[in-house]
Amino acid sequence: MSQIYDRVALIGLGLIASSMFWAIKRSGLAREVTGYARSKATRDTARRIGLCDRVCDTAQEAVEDADLVVLCVPVGAMGAVAAEIAPSLKPGATVSDVGSVKRHVIGAVGPHIPEGVHFIPAHPLAGTEHSGPESGFAELFDNRWCLLVPVEGSDPQAIERLRALWEGMGANVDEMDADHHDLVLAVTSHAPHLIAYTMVGVADDLRRVTDTEVIKYSAAGFRDFTRIAASDPTMWRDVFLTNKDATLEILGRFTEELFALQRAIRTGDGEHLFDYFTRTRGIRRGIIDAGQDTDAPNFGRGKAT
Ligand code: NAP
Repeated sequence: MSQIYDRVALIGLGLIASSMFWAIKRSGLAREVTGYARSKATRDTARRIGLCDRVCDTAQEAVEDADLVVLCVPVGAMGAVAAEIAPSLKPGATVSDVGSVKRHVIGAVGPHIPEGVHFIPAHPLAGTEHSGPESGFAELFDNRWCLLVPVEGSDPQAIERLRALWEGMGANVDEMDADHHDLVLAVTSHAPHLIAYTMVGVADDLRRVTDTEVIKYSAAGFRDFTRIAASDPTMWRDVFLTNKDATLEILGRFTEELFALQRAIRTGDGEHLFDYFTRTRGIRRGIIDAGQDTDAPNFGRGKAT
């Protein structure tokens, strides 16, 4: 794979930024990658593990002369970070982000982007429950989707260049409108996370009754909820505060369906339950056929429990 940008700057050095760095290096997609994180502890860790060609002590220094600047901080911090780097951006540079919510980021970052600088929001649909500079790995984006959400008037060449970078990092790339993105993600990611957080919270409330049984007998279903519910609290707080309408819309529908299933259980309506579960099993099959998960029993974990 050939070089796409001369210099890329990563602002925020957590899971996504560190995975981007290793993926860029894997395929030689940039000559130099600079990085910045607000805390000295994260910058020190980055220097120790060789994360970024150059770790800078200020965000301004990291973005100077960069052809691409990627904001990799929680959604709620994007606006302030954009304001901080704006005066140091090179004319002709592209600013992008990896935030999980797009309409809010466009509103918070857009006004700070100087004339002559391109702004192309993006969102890689890939992650784990781990965070921080040591959690990244080069394969994170392989065969995952990255959605580009160009704003009105975005330069087609700048979009193509960013697309090439994400493809070079292993992702499949699509373009989507911001509002549609936020609704799709509310269904596929945001509401499921809230439900997982709730289920684990309910189990914790019952802990006194069940003693250690919740942990001891945490078979696949609950265990998978606990993995999702271990995701970074700051990131997810910001997601729900900034994708409020779409998440509430999906949770409203979820509650209606839950009540319908509750009634089916109460009235012994086995047909309703069977039909519902048959439909959802088909959705799982579709995800596997699309190559977005493994068909191996128990998600490919060695030992089924
Ligand atoms: P992370 O591992 O927790 O790292 C976050 C980084 O942002 C850290 O370097 C942190 O700096 C910095 N940061 C936190 N609060 C900040 C603030 N108020 N001002 C400036 N910097 C701040 O996070 P991540 O998982 O890489 O997520 C980064 C972005 O990617 C988020 O917008 C998230 O929505 C999006 N995203 C995440 C996933 C996922 O599954 N994790 C997937 C797709 C997209 P310090 O280390 O110095 O505290």
